[in-house]
Amino acid sequence: MEKTESAGGVESLTILGTGPAGLTAAIYSARANLKPLCVEGVQPGGQLTITSEVENYPGFAEPVMGPDLMTAFRKQAERFGTRFFQGNVAQADLSKRPFRLLMDDGREILTQALIISTGASAKWIGIPSEQRLMGKGVSACATCDGFFFRNLDVVVVGGGDTALEEATFLTRFAKSVTVVHRRDQFRASKAMQDRAFKNPKIKFVWNSVVDEILGEKAVTSVRLKNVLTQDLQELKAEGVFVAIGHQPNTALFRNQLNCDETGYLITQKGSTYTNIPGVFAAGDVADHVYRQAVTAAGTGCMAALDAERFLESGE
Ligand code: NAP
Repeated sequence: MEKTESAGGVESLTILGTGPAGLTAAIYSARANLKPLCVEGVQPGGQLTITSEVENYPGFAEPVMGPDLMTAFRKQAERFGTRFFQGNVAQADLSKRPFRLLMDDGREILTQALIISTGASAKWIGIPSEQRLMGKGVSACATCDGFFFRNLDVVVVGGGDTALEEATFLTRFAKSVTVVHRRDQFRASKAMQDRAFKNPKIKFVWNSVVDEILGEKAVTSVRLKNVLTQDLQELKAEGVFVAIGHQPNTALFRNQLNCDETGYLITQKGSTYTNIPGVFAAGDVADHVYRQAVTAAGTGCMAALDAERFLESGE
């Protein structure tokens, strides 16, 4: 079977997203001569483009900047013939093949196979200082950035499993960790709560939200507001970890593909197959557990191999 772009403007394989999952899928499928079309989406390069140094991506003895790592992924994908397409998909019709993607500027892509690697986006508090100090003390990933807060005071915002897991993890580095939660009860599992309550480095501020993150060039403190009394207090902190959940970028597909209750795509065990033959999912869009660049890249590779076998089978 001809593996390259099919006749009549129908792509063999289209990949949505250019984070570690999408670009790894592109590298593998381009090397398999599928000439993939990779749609860049709203945040080219994905979540790593908003982190600073990456120290845990295997193969780099020295830290690498997140945006530089993604540029290298992209160049590698280009070298084997990946074609990049700038734009956002507004509608997807997966009811029959070729699948049809309609871009928000009216362009259309028809494709025999589709890899969805649109990622997940961290939810943010939504105050301007949070955006201004992003990567300068504000982070949404303790695993990525915790190491930079050795012997410093940090705040974790949220009351779910992620917040308490990140708070516990951060105690390995930080001098103190203060969990700020908007209610007086956590929604995290009991085991996670017990572990956090027992940790002498973790303090708790209840019924409070972050009103402002303060600091000129980097975070120096946070202003907290008690939601019951409206009282304000300032707390010294060099780091603010926002852990109020992630949102998988699956809005386009929720009525066509099987998703869990929070919207993550469900894949068949041990593969990247979704419930629609020819549609594959890779990376954070289908993973709320690991959420690492290296695991996303791993599932991107799996998706490319699954798509290649699917196209070869001529199903
Ligand atoms: P989550 O369970 O949705 O919790 C989000 C937390 O952030 C809640 O406590 C919520 O407060 C708070 N929050 C939401 N929006 C906020 C805002 N605008 N301002 C201040 N606080 C806000 O999210 P998650 O902790 O990321 O967990 C997601 C899923 O992954 C869950 O099913 C969780 O069990 C799972 N998970 C499991 C593990 C594990 O088992 N090791 C680890 C991490 C995550 P309220 O409580 O008031 O709503």
